Amino acid sequence: MYCKRCGNKVEEIWKYCPKCKLPLIKKNIEFSKENMIKKQKQDKRDSIICIVIFLLGIFGIFFLNNYSIICFSISLISIVTGFIKYPNNIFIKILFLIFLICVILFGIIIIILFFTIVNFILTCNGFSAG
Ligand SMILES: [Zn+2]
Repeated sequence: MYCKRCGNKVEEIWKYCPKCKLPLIKKNIEFSKENMIKKQKQDKRDSIICIVIFLLGIFGIFFLNNYSIICFSISLISIVTGFIKYPNNIFIKILFLIFLICVILFGIIIIILFFTIVNFILTCNGFSAG
């Protein structure tokens, strides 16, 4: 028996796949090895498609200025989908984490800029009023 998500070999008595923590209920178990290999190949191909779409989106954010928001959405959707569907794919995991960190950093920079500007405006007003 094999875990349908990660392809790990599992025993009938186990409740969870030790590798990906998927509950080993009937629909999550693959009995035939051929099906398993077929599915793994398909997953690999799909995860590569996810990565390619993600990278194209990132490329678009930087080089297609008019469409950067659309490209950002495409990247976000593809990497989140990839991360949910293929949690064991190390490349998707790394890209997802980098993307997440960049988005958080970008958010922090925007917030700091916002407060700096607000502060600046308030100080200017203070001076003109005083
Ligand atoms: Zn598993």
